[in-house]
Amino acid sequence: MSINRLGVIGAGTMGNGIAQACAVSGIEVVMVDIAQAAVDKGLATVAGSLERLVKKEKMTDSDRNAALARIRGSVSYDDLRGLPLVIEAATENEPIKVKILKQLDGLLSADAIIATNTSSISITRLAASTQRADRFIGLHFFNPVAMMALVELIRGLQTSDETLAAMQSLVSRLGKTPITVRNSPGFVVNRILVPMINEAFFVLAEGMASAEDIDAGMRLGCNQPIGPLALADLIGLDVVLAVMEVYVTEFADSKYRPCPLLKEMVAAGRLGRKTGRGVYTY
Ligand code: NAD
Repeated sequence: MSINRLGVIGAGTMGNGIAQACAVSGIEVVMVDIAQAAVDKGLATVAGSLERLVKKEKMTDSDRNAALARIRGSVSYDDLRGLPLVIEAATENEPIKVKILKQLDGLLSADAIIATNTSSISITRLAASTQRADRFIGLHFFNPVAMMALVELIRGLQTSDETLAAMQSLVSRLGKTPITVRNSPGFVVNRILVPMINEAFFVLAEGMASAEDIDAGMRLGCNQPIGPLALADLIGLDVVLAVMEVYVTEFADSKYRPCPLLKEMVAAGRLGRKTGRGVYTY
């Protein structure tokens, strides 16, 4: 199954990034959001991002123009009719996603695939809200989409081998590397990454080393591009805490206990870069 046209739901951070990656790879994209302003902002973000590539001489003018011409913005789900694939990248909220998926299920042809870019909601549960659970899959892109080489392909309990194979070839066509993951909280990357960040807070709380030295240790000793505490400030300490709380609940395993220092800092409103202060002050 070769996919040359697809739809993207949501023109936000991830939606416009996914639309850009597909358009640059020669795929026609219909990008749908609820408000025209959101669509316009998404299209402007793609235009700005491609412009930077042209300036850095990583893309020619004509390739940029061709990529932009492949993205059509819309506020109407009707424009998705007949597409073989729609990637849902709307707000991370389960009732909103279920409503969108039911709408898509009703208007796409029976053999079309629906994918979701959710970072935390169960793929098996979302699949069950459609009548095409075998043609439903998690397609987890990383931010910023244009830069990040990985896409996690998450199989719900019902996802068919054909659906997985079609998405593997799509991801390869985008020049990215797919890894296949069974549905489980955090999938692979965040399951390992977020507890590592939480452990860095324990190390800090125990006074084993300063924040700067903990981060330098992981940068220089493990070749990480950014230390775990600086990364927590970037992601948002509240987001890190929320993810750990999901793991504790879903796995019923105390090994995912959030560090009390992390909880204290969130309670104090020290959420990281977005509030001007987290582990570090900005
Ligand atoms: P965002 O808030 O930037 O964008 C979400 C967009 O969805 C908004 O423009 C909103 O108007 C639109 N939307 C809401 N309801 C809609 C509907 N019914 N129909 C069409 N559009 C609708 O969010 P984001 O950061 O792009 O995240 C999107 C998804 O990607 C979420 O599931 C998130 O968990 C996931 N994700 C995010 C990141 C990240 O770093 N931001 C990384 C990986 C995955």
